[in-house]
Order: sequence, then C-alpha cells, then structure tokens
Amino acid sequence: MQKLRAGILGATGAVGQQFVRLLADHPWFDISVLAASERSAGKRYFEAVNWIGSDPIPDSVREMEVVSCEPGIGCDFVFSGLDAKVAGGIESDFAAAGYAVISNARNHRMRQDVPLLIPEVNPEHTALIDAQNTSGYIVTNPNCSTVGLVCALKPIVDAFGVDRVQVSTMQALSGAGYPGVSSLDILGNVVPFIGGEEDKLETEPLKLLGALENGAVTPYRATLSAQCNRVPVLDGHMETVSLSLKRTASPEAVVGALRGFKNPLAGLGLPTAPDPFVAVFDDPRFPQPRRHSNLGRGMTVSVGRVRSCNVLDIRMVVLSHNTVRGAAGGAILNAELLVHQGRLSSRTAAAPATEKAS
Ligand code: NAP
Repeated sequence: MQKLRAGILGATGAVGQQFVRLLADHPWFDISVLAASERSAGKRYFEAVNWIGSDPIPDSVREMEVVSCEPGIGCDFVFSGLDAKVAGGIESDFAAAGYAVISNARNHRMRQDVPLLIPEVNPEHTALIDAQNTSGYIVTNPNCSTVGLVCALKPIVDAFGVDRVQVSTMQALSGAGYPGVSSLDILGNVVPFIGGEEDKLETEPLKLLGALENGAVTPYRATLSAQCNRVPVLDGHMETVSLSLKRTASPEAVVGALRGFKNPLAGLGLPTAPDPFVAVFDDPRFPQPRRHSNLGRGMTVSVGRVRSCNVLDIRMVVLSHNTVRGAAGGAILNAELLVHQGRLSSRTAAAPATEKAS
C-alpha cells in the first residue's frame, strides 16, 4: 500500500509533538507538512518547537519548515492538534477545501453530523460523515478524560447497561498543553478545577455510547456526575469511577465482561490498535500512571480495583495516557479505521474544493 501524506496542524504543541513521535515510523502514513501559528511559520521545526520529550526530535522532520495553517498545503489529509481557540474555523476551512480533518479539538465534537469516535467503541458512527456538506470532512476524538472512562464503560454497558456514573479524575499536567499550569500552582498541590472539563465528561460519553439510527446518533441514556482535578503527574489521567447497573452483576461478572469484550478491531491489522484494548489488574495497587500509562504503547486503557460500591453498584479505577490514547494516538487510530473503511485515501484531499452534489 502506498503511504498517505499526512499534515499536522498544531505540530508544535504538546499533542502535535505526540503526532510527530507516533507518525515518524508509521507504516501507512508519512508526515509531509508541519503547520502551526504565524509565530512558528517560516522556522525550521527544531527552531519553532519547544520539544518536551526526553527522546530526540525525529531526524525526518527536524529540519522541515513549519508552514501556516491554510488549505493548499501538500498532503492527503490532516491531523489537528490545534488550540481550541482557533481550531473551529481552521478545521472547517480545511474540510471545505476537500481535506479529511482528524481532530483532537473540542470545537466540532458535539455536532450532529460529526463522528465523535473511539474505533473500538463506535466504529459505525463514521457514517455521520455522509451528512457533512463539504467535499472534505471532520472526524473528532473525545476529550482526554472521556476516552479512558468510555473505553472502560463500553464492555460494561454492552453486558449489563449502566444507569448512573460518578467519576473523579486525577489529570496529568501534559493535559494542559505547554506551558500549562504554573509550577507554583501545582508542585506539592492539587487543583480541583479544570475549566470546561466536567461538562465534556458528562456529555461526550452519551454520544460515544449512543446508537446510530437513521443517520443520526441517539445518545445513550445514563446520568453522569464528574469532578475533575489537576495533579502533579506528567502523563496519564487516572479516574475513580462508581456506577449503577441496569441489570445486577457481581464485581467478578464485571471483570469477566471487561476481559471478554469482543473488540471490533480484532484481526483488522490496524497498526495502532492495542491488544488488549482494556487491561484489568487483580493487584489492588494497580494501575498507576508512572507504571502503566505506556501500556500498549500508550493505547491500552488500564482498569483496576473492580469491587462493590456501598452507594452505587460497582466501583473501579481507570487509567489512560492522555496525549496518546486521549489525543494523538486515538486520532491516528481513527485515521486507520477510516482507511480500513475506505473513507480515507489519497484521493480524499485531491477531490475538487466544491460542495457535495446533494
Ligand atoms: P498546545 O500545546 O497549547 O498547542 C497548541 C498548538 O496550536 C500549537 O502548535 C500552536 O502553534 C497552535 N496554534 C495556536 N494558535 C494558533 C493559530 N492562531 N493558528 C494556528 N495554530 C495555532 O495545546 P495541546 O495540549 O497540544 O492541545 C491541542 C489541542 O488538543 C487542544 O484543542 C486540546 O484541547 C486538545 N487535546 C489536548 C490533550 C492533551 O492531553 N494535551 C488531549 C486531548 C485533546 P504555535 O506553537 O505556533 O503557537
């Protein structure tokens, strides 16, 4: 298969750097364009980026010139790690110009015609693309704390149904981008507020777990209550979750459902798909961000401490890598699914920049 040429919008940010890292040796996609703000445009990548990893910048992109985020850049499709303040308009412009836009930003997530996608959870929701009235299209992945929660809930929803969910997060610093939270605010401290986060965590899961009916998503019926906290951890969002079930089940049965989940990606050969999709720990000390965030190259979601809850039915701990599974890795897996479904090819971007016929 000929590799597709990927552009990265927001290539200098925390998520953009994860895209660069994960795409540097990707078997299906080549990085052909790095784009960011006017502050970075015209500079070579290593001059424009404040590289925050302990690994070196990949040689293949180090000297590449950063361009501004305007349609016309030479690639088949774009990943977006853009700041949400500007992502909405820029992503719409690219979709109108015929590009497939695989986005991390929140701006288009809840639009009725835009898939909010986790390939193992709702691969059929990509059909929403057909309702987008542009020659390109936008596909989004969820908020970084939504991803872990929904990956852990999906097997339980399928087996028993879920009625109410109470979730408290302990979110890593990398989730705030760069420079993010001031060191004086977070060192030796916890900040019990992340603007807009609780709303996303209470609404996005209902779309992700919803049913595709007559070309639209009917949201899943459940009630969620979220409390979001920033903690002095580098990578990996941890969540303590309590939930009530629609059909009674023991903690052992819930663990059985998590371990027995029939992953719809099994056997498809998508390069970024992890195996297992969800790892369940028996050791009550696990999962922990430093030890387990990178499981499955950052794509496996970890679950532990599944036990009875004295208030609701079941409680557990969930951990996921926020800039990999919760951002760049999730978006790359979305693109791989779209290739597999025949919705993303080198012709997508080459299509004329005109409206669809109807
Ligand atoms: P970030 O580190 O602040 O990076 C923002 C990127 O946007 C930079 O490349 C920046 O380029 C670019 N940008 C800013 N203003 C621009 C403009 N006017 N025109 C073009 N480009 C512009 O943010 P981040 O943490 O990577 O997050 C990126 C997006 O992903 C956000 O929408 C965020 O909500 C979402 N997200 C983040 C995470 C996470 O864990 N960090 C997880 C899921 C989703 P310059 O360097 O040139 O300014």
